[in-house]
Amino acid sequence: MEENKAKNGTELQTHFIKQIIDKDIENNKNDGKVHTRFPPEPNGYLHIGHAKSICLNFGLAKEYNGFCNLRFDDTNPEKEDVEYVDSIKDDVKWLGFDWDDRLYFASDYFDKLYNYALDLIKMGKAFVCDLSGKEMREYRGTLTEPGKNSPYRDRTIEENISLFEKMKNGEFDEGSKVLRAKIDMSSPNINMRDPVIYRIRKIDHHRTGSKWNVYPMYDYTHCISDAIEGITHSVCTLEFEDHRPLYDWILDTLETEKHPQQIEFARLNINYTVMSKRTLLYLVNEGIVDGWDDPRMPTISGLRRRGVSPGAIRMFADQIGIAKSNSIVDIAFLDYCIREDLNKYAKRVMGVLEPLKLVIDNYPEDKVEMLPAINNPEDPEMGEREIPFSKYLYIEKNDFMEDPPKKYFRLSPGKEIRLKHAFYVKCIRVEKDEAGNITEIGCTYDPKTKGGWSDDGRKVKGTSHWVSAKHAVSAEIRLYDKLFNMENPSELENSELRGNINPESIIVLKNCKLEPSLSDADDTINYQFLRQGYFVLDQKDSTKDNLVFNRTVSMRDTWAKLMKKMGK
Ligand code: ATP
Ligand code: MG
Repeated sequence: MEENKAKNGTELQTHFIKQIIDKDIENNKNDGKVHTRFPPEPNGYLHIGHAKSICLNFGLAKEYNGFCNLRFDDTNPEKEDVEYVDSIKDDVKWLGFDWDDRLYFASDYFDKLYNYALDLIKMGKAFVCDLSGKEMREYRGTLTEPGKNSPYRDRTIEENISLFEKMKNGEFDEGSKVLRAKIDMSSPNINMRDPVIYRIRKIDHHRTGSKWNVYPMYDYTHCISDAIEGITHSVCTLEFEDHRPLYDWILDTLETEKHPQQIEFARLNINYTVMSKRTLLYLVNEGIVDGWDDPRMPTISGLRRRGVSPGAIRMFADQIGIAKSNSIVDIAFLDYCIREDLNKYAKRVMGVLEPLKLVIDNYPEDKVEMLPAINNPEDPEMGEREIPFSKYLYIEKNDFMEDPPKKYFRLSPGKEIRLKHAFYVKCIRVEKDEAGNITEIGCTYDPKTKGGWSDDGRKVKGTSHWVSAKHAVSAEIRLYDKLFNMENPSELENSELRGNINPESIIVLKNCKLEPSLSDADDTINYQFLRQGYFVLDQKDSTKDNLVFNRTVSMRDTWAKLMKKMGK
């Protein structure tokens, strides 16, 4: 893959949008400047698809020494909320981007947009239409048949001005009239068949209150907002490709001073998850998930709570690339990016998720040895810590088998394994309760193998993690997996979502036993529990008395294996 060096020294991939910008700079278009924007509608929390757009828009600005605005596209009064505005700002900042003083709201332009609409009317390029929604659809025609002109299309300019003013003043009912651009009912592009540009909504807006009874439509608002802000490259997703002629028509007709260039790229889709805010809102409202920041959600806040870092998301956004045709990214690739990132700095510790008692029969009753353990083999600067070893330990239940198959290298009767950072131990007895469940394993240890090495050439194949029973801290651990049990849940109706949730998308384990250093964990530290995956303290539910850890991602990495196989 072609790569180039970003200004900040990181390797970023090149793509067709950069090639367009490079050409523009070469031709001194826009005086060689780059000014982008990220335009969310504040009707939900941001998801990882938005992160792709954020990384692209803010990333381009950074790379070309330009600017990127944060603009709330808040033309839809009923679904929008300040809670969403605040969460979006937090998420963009957390991802590592900054709009400085360039925070805008489309609603800031309502007066200008209204005046531009009057200009269109005065040019004979817009008219007030009384057709009902149903009639308008009938008049619109189809992909193969042209539309028909509205009977209201030829109203005089004076009448249109007067009616539009009355619409604004609240003199008509919702749905009784709209303002439409007068373009071409026989255009092969349905978006050009006299599209609605204003509708009556008698609803308060979260920023403009009760001032307006008419609200501008998205297509009309977006291009004008871009032009007002002097955006040079207006990057959007592919579904707007067919809207581009309208984008250009509005700006050409109004002869705005600036005429940004709309460029479309493929939106991010990931399998086993949904990515539309409407669907995510449904999951939240129906209690199918535990809020927008449920760690199983593809939202930025969910990923953050699960322990994913902004760096991992930026790496993912860059690596998946920017393309012109839609595709679906494998969720395993996101997990791969998360692991690659965490592997660099996660602190290695030991935690037993499903504890099984192990007693060292030949170890003195009250003795405690402090054993050094390295915090991160990838980064010696992270140093060492000491962990207590004693007669009574816990190991992982599935690290022992009484009657193992042939190539089983973990603990079983008569077998010897290494306890990580500690000693070799050999199983000499198994205790069971009346029901036949194993309750305790008895071992002997070899004091000469301190540190987990033997100098007599004796080798062991298995290494287990462990904790000292009386020193361990108890914790609740939440394991996460794919939210849906089908690859393409975005094809489902909302009512079908609940039935397709992966029942193992969350597994809660209580009374896990962790090494004592985790008693002062905080949610800014990422841990690797040896052999179990990466974990972080849950920022919402964890308390001093009831520690809760989320598993960010397991250790198993099918993607890395695949890459290796392909020789990458
Ligand atoms: P949704 O369908 O999830 O509600 P949206 O496109 O309506 O998404 P907006 O708030 O309008 O959400 O999106 C803001 C910006 O983020 C837009 O420029 C949009 O193109 C981009 N965006 C949204 N979803 C994705 C995605 N899956 N991949 C890439 N960009 C996206
Ligand atoms: Mg949208």
